[in-house]
Amino acid sequence: MATAVPTTSHAVPFDPESIRGDFPILQTRLHATDGNSGVPLVYLDNAATTQRPRQVIQSLVDVYEKHYANVHRGIHWLSDQSTDLYEEAREKTRVFINAAAREEVIFSYGTTEGINLVARSWGDANVKAGDEILLSEMEHHANLVPWFQLAERTGCKVRHLPITDDGQLVLDALPKMLTDRTKLVAVTAVSNVLGTINPLPEIIRQAHAAGAKVLVDAAQSVPHMRTDVQALDCDFLAFSGHKMLGPSGVGILYGKRELLDAMPPFLGGGSMIRRVRLDGFESADLPAKFEAGTPPIVPAIGLGAAIDYLNQVGLDAIHAQETLLTLKAHEVLEGLDAGVRFLGPEPAKKAGIVSFTMKTMHAHDIAQLLDRAGVAVRAGHHCTMPLHKRLGVTASARASFYFYNTTAEVETFGRALGEALRIFKRK
Ligand code: PMP
Repeated sequence: MATAVPTTSHAVPFDPESIRGDFPILQTRLHATDGNSGVPLVYLDNAATTQRPRQVIQSLVDVYEKHYANVHRGIHWLSDQSTDLYEEAREKTRVFINAAAREEVIFSYGTTEGINLVARSWGDANVKAGDEILLSEMEHHANLVPWFQLAERTGCKVRHLPITDDGQLVLDALPKMLTDRTKLVAVTAVSNVLGTINPLPEIIRQAHAAGAKVLVDAAQSVPHMRTDVQALDCDFLAFSGHKMLGPSGVGILYGKRELLDAMPPFLGGGSMIRRVRLDGFESADLPAKFEAGTPPIVPAIGLGAAIDYLNQVGLDAIHAQETLLTLKAHEVLEGLDAGVRFLGPEPAKKAGIVSFTMKTMHAHDIAQLLDRAGVAVRAGHHCTMPLHKRLGVTASARASFYFYNTTAEVETFGRALGEALRIFKRK
């Protein structure tokens, strides 16, 4: 079998400073002028997308230079090579989330496509007028709009589990909201704004007891904490490669085999068929049934390399580093005299995502002024307009961490915010 995945040499627990050497983009200096070498990039926008280590970048170069052809098609040597690598990446992903079988691991283009696949394929086949889909008030648009579209097609009703003012699900409301009409509960594992880590085992237990299936939006959890789909007992789980060191353009939809087997295909075309006649077709077996056309071959192989890297660093170490950074960010922001309001629960209860507003400065001004100091954060509604409305704000600033961030960077972020406040007061 061809190998396109160089290994990293890092021992666990890791030193973020040495790990940073693996990430070429983190060496960037920006805003250089004559006689000034600029400022170092402080990349705190990891909930939007993460950066890639050399090992992942090199895996892409290796495939294109040595192993690239279309998969599952050729009877030739090169096609066998790329097919082996593509399937090897599926196997690495299967092990990473502890799925029971490779048939349950579908390559998609990302979380968004995975959720749309379930809404279209499972939804159209199983949901009818009067049925209910239960979401929450903290969902990303990717876990809202596909269900609204399903409601438009079928006449089902979309409901939302409420959240508290500090951004936690009101779990007490769940038993009442789960009715015999609830067909599916679709909920995020970790909020991309609040950082809240939701109590999935309890939600899944109650949903199943009520006869509903559960889809987990795991875009913000799989990259940061251990995921075991069998222990969770979720029915579907979707995530994206680009949020976990992998390339953009690839994601995973996990589904229980018996559900995927019973579902009609989502997209039609090559690869997803067993046979085509002039008057119809027969679908291929899993997982090909849900991988129509040429799949994201190279991004999938790169995702396999990203999983290798994450395994070597260790998800527990990753989670510990992010917790440290989150606590530090809270401390730094609390030290500013700027009327900071945190969106989300106390730091000990959340993932490495710190969203906030300031009395004295709009989120967009915060992000723009931070950028002058080389600090990249996101400002806006972060694809969660209903959540922002629920919290009574139109926009927030968000610093989000990955394990390659350091406490020194969080201090730079704090100093840059202090300077931004001074500049803003002078205006
Ligand atoms: N759900 C959540 C919680 C997210 O944070 C994101 C990405 N911001 C998505 C879904 C959509 O992911 P993608 O754009 O990779 O499809």
